Amino acid sequence: FPPELIRNFCIVAHVDHGKSTLADRILEITGTIKPGSHDNQVLDRLEVERERGITVKAQTASLFYELDGKTYLLNLIDTPGHVDFNYEVARSLAACQGVVLLVDANQGVQAQTLATFYSAFEADKTIIPALNKIDLKHANPDAVAAQMKKALDIEPSEVLRISAKLGTGVPDLLRAIVHRIPPPVGNVNKPFRGLVFDSWFDKRRGVVTLVAVVDGQLKKEDKISFVSSDKVYEVKDIGLMRPDKVSAEKLYAGQVGYIMCGMKTTKEAQIGDTVSHKSSPVPPILPIRPAKQMVFAGVYPEDQSQNESLRGSLDKLMLNDSSVSVTMEQSAALGQGWRLGFLGLLHMEVFLQRLEYEHGATCIATIPSVPYRAKFKFEKQIKEFRTEVLTVVNPQSIPEASVVSEFSEPWVMGTILTPSEYMGEILAICMERRAQQKNATFLDNTRVLMQFHMPLSEVIVDFFDILKSKTSGYASFDYEDAGYRPCTLVKQFPVAIQATVGGKIIAREDLKQLRKDVVAQKIYSHGGRDKGRAQKLLNRQKEGKARMRMVETFRYHTTVLLKF
Ligand code: GDP
Ligand code: MG
Repeated sequence: FPPELIRNFCIVAHVDHGKSTLADRILEITGTIKPGSHDNQVLDRLEVERERGITVKAQTASLFYELDGKTYLLNLIDTPGHVDFNYEVARSLAACQGVVLLVDANQGVQAQTLATFYSAFEADKTIIPALNKIDLKHANPDAVAAQMKKALDIEPSEVLRISAKLGTGVPDLLRAIVHRIPPPVGNVNKPFRGLVFDSWFDKRRGVVTLVAVVDGQLKKEDKISFVSSDKVYEVKDIGLMRPDKVSAEKLYAGQVGYIMCGMKTTKEAQIGDTVSHKSSPVPPILPIRPAKQMVFAGVYPEDQSQNESLRGSLDKLMLNDSSVSVTMEQSAALGQGWRLGFLGLLHMEVFLQRLEYEHGATCIATIPSVPYRAKFKFEKQIKEFRTEVLTVVNPQSIPEASVVSEFSEPWVMGTILTPSEYMGEILAICMERRAQQKNATFLDNTRVLMQFHMPLSEVIVDFFDILKSKTSGYASFDYEDAGYRPCTLVKQFPVAIQATVGGKIIAREDLKQLRKDVVAQKIYSHGGRDKGRAQKLLNRQKEGKARMRMVETFRYHTTVLLKF
């Protein structure tokens, strides 16, 4: 397949703006799947994804598309939509030359519309903007196009209008993909090099690696190696995702496909790594950036007798998600467990839910925390820990303040898009969480974009929930890294144990109660700065407990609050 007939693209959007629906429609229109022959949302494969309606792992599909008498090979990558998964969005972007930016014509520009737009823009990708859901009665495409002009400087004349649900405008979108997105610039005759942009563990066939072939060609039985390791593998199978795996004789420059080469874990296939023939090594295509874990929690078996089986389940799940970090941890109250690091709070929730659904494992998870840094005052500790600045992922291991010259914590730049009537309320929520307002821009007379600097620790506990409930679900939020800033930490050791109730919906309720607990404790530990507010929170917690008692007949989880 000559590279000039190939287009590699992904669809980016705020959650629920229609990525998966559009991917399904594109697969149908190109005849890749039969209409109605599959469940909705072919590319959302994990049980958790269907249940939560979010895409957890990016899925790729290769499809053939006829236009003007030519057959094009389109490689579609369905990217995950949530803030925690920006890491995955970034790696999917690296494998394509253009993106379709979907915006719901009813909801308008949202926080992740901006975040995904800027990732694509900064990566210099061609952007095809499209308004989706124009079939909705309350759709207002002209107004949303004007918001896109104001927020993203996109010309309204460039914006396509589609209904992913009904298929309206999707053929035009496919034409725009072919016409506007440049083909990959590979050379089939150069030495083979490919970019690894996804990998997962297939129960029957082992590790599957997705690769965007930049130059050259690859066939079965070739000997390959990866820039980040010295190991040599033999290619056992290669092929295209259609969207299920279909073997091929060869993969060529410009194509996107899978490789199976007998790897035992996805840790061997680092995302962002470069693969080449053993006999002709190449320099890395992208600098390898390891996943950055920003939310940590201890995970323990409900009972120490289940330690081995929980460990087995964790091992299996981590074969599939190499962005989770793990270290052993010991707790006086809970015994032997592990401290897991996640990209964000949702990533943690999805992981724990998969642990239960896919591996039948129940566990106790501690309240999440962020990685703090402690800069030592004295040589003694610097020698002992072999570092001047220690990163602490477990609140229990925070060094005594007397030996530390400065503690610091991660801050983020938060972006909120909201109907303007909630501005005051949102400002109040943010100020209570040590936020500093950076700017506020009206996109039109009903919607405003607000930006804040705030500590990540204030975001991961209950910020989303409160923001959603105070704005009846209308505000959207996203955040990005903004470096570390000094903070004061007061360490206390009492461990409170609280029973909460497991099961789907009930567990969510309880998590909220739990989060309020933490907020209250935090205020106390900050020296009773705001007793009135703390008291209010404690009262709410009491109400929560009363509610909890009503559902106590269900299965129990014990959750430990680490106070500090
Ligand atoms: P994603 O989170 O971006 O993958 O969004 P989904 O594809 O899961 O869509 C979210 C919801 O919007 C689903 O209930 C879809 O059925 C619905 N939806 C998607 N596209 C359209 C559309 O063009 N029109 C209408 N009316 N609903 C749509
Ligand atoms: Mg989806």
